[in-house]
Parts: sequence; structure tokens; C-alpha cells
Amino acid sequence: MIVKIIPCLSDNYSYLIFEKKTGTVSIVDPSDFKTCDQVIKKYKKLDYILNTHHHLDHVSGNLELKNKYNSKIIGYDGDKDRIPGVDIVLKQNQDFKIGNLKFKVFFVPGHTNGHIAFYFKKENIIFTGDTLFSLGCGRIFEGTNEQMFESLNKFKDLPGVTKIYCGHEYTKKNLDFCRKYDVANSFLIEKSKEVDHKLSKNIPTIPTTISDEFKTNIFLRCDDARLKEELNKKDLSDLEIFTYLRGLKDNF
Ligand code: ZN
Ligand code: FE
Repeated sequence: MIVKIIPCLSDNYSYLIFEKKTGTVSIVDPSDFKTCDQVIKKYKKLDYILNTHHHLDHVSGNLELKNKYNSKIIGYDGDKDRIPGVDIVLKQNQDFKIGNLKFKVFFVPGHTNGHIAFYFKKENIIFTGDTLFSLGCGRIFEGTNEQMFESLNKFKDLPGVTKIYCGHEYTKKNLDFCRKYDVANSFLIEKSKEVDHKLSKNIPTIPTTISDEFKTNIFLRCDDARLKEELNKKDLSDLEIFTYLRGLKDNF
């Protein structure tokens, strides 16, 4: 499985997936037809379009790409009326194959009510859209804090080596937030160096990994006693900590 990162718009990432054995070409969240097609046209085909959620910056390329390549569009069953041109609808925990690549649907509401992630277990890769970012999480537009908190917890059981491909390059801003509120976390210093280095060379900070995120992403550390103490909120529940931090981040 080859994943090509396609930077789109101001800070979006679309991802081209190529599977050699069957020659299957897919794209996750085509933000923009022209930019994505520059990459796709070298392959001369596009079998599948996978959408994590219905927001325009993730589906804008859907119809033009489908029209040009006769691709099949895959989206969440509950969002079939909001995903442009959807052909194949999938449910929570459903397995599906694109060529030889098998993935599972993680239902992760919060950012939107119909948000999903695509988990390729054998390849140790997950596409998280606007749910889990490097060092952050998505804004809660349609769901509740509790839903987002539970959705993020679904990633906890994944192997640490799992690579995370998310929907945006928000890492620097997220890092600044983590460093402000999780001051004593030494892993953030290492992560800072890596992020600054990559950004200075114009390299995406993506993918990150599950183990990195659990060490550094403040939204995944709401159960950490030392963090709670540092925030002066040691009596709050994990969910209350999450809600507090999400509120701070919205105005950061
Ligand atoms: Zn979004
Ligand atoms: Fe987005």
C-alpha cells in the first residue's frame, strides 16, 4: 500500500492510495479536483473515492473525479444524503476491500454526526479526517463533547505503530496549545524539534503515530493525573477535562 500525500487548499491533505497487486487507485477526501487530478492522472484511473465526512473541504473533488474516472464513492450510511455522488454506503465496524486492501469503518462522531475513519489493520494505517489530528482533535460542530471524547478513545486500542493520516496540517498550532497547557510533558520537546524541522523544509508533519499521539496529544491525555493537577483541576473527570481543554482550544 502506497500512500501519497496531496496538500490541497490552504492546509488540507488528500491522500492517494495505490495498491500494486491489483493496480487499484483510491483517494481519501479529495479537497480539490485540479490538485488531486495532477497526481491521479499519472495512474490514468481512479477506482474509489473515500470520504471521512461531508464538509466541503473533504468532498469538493468528488463529482468531477467521479465524472472523469467513473469512480465509486464510499461514505457513511448515515450521511448518504450529504456525501456528493455517494455509491457505496458503509456502517460502523463494517469491513470493505479496495483491491486487495481491507479496511474497517470506525464510526467517530463529534466533529460531524456522520464522521468515519478508515482503518487498514494489516498495513497499520488509519485515515482520521477531522477527528484526530497530530497533537489535536477536530472542532465539535455537530456532536457533543462526550461523543468526541468517546470517538477519540476508540483509537486507544490501536497498535502504537499505527500511522495516522489526518485531514489538515494543524500540527504547529496544536503543538503550541499542548506546550502551553501540558508544560511538564518532556515528549513535547522532542516532538517540537521534529515538527519545526519538517515545517522549515516544507515537509508535511503527517503521518504521526498512535504511540506518539498518546504521549503528546493533550486531548488523548485527559486521564493523566499529573496533567489534571497542572491544570488545577484534579477533581474533574476525564470527560470534564476534555470539555475544558476543547473550550480553551476553540479560543486559542
Ligand atoms: Zn471538517
Ligand atoms: Fe476539514
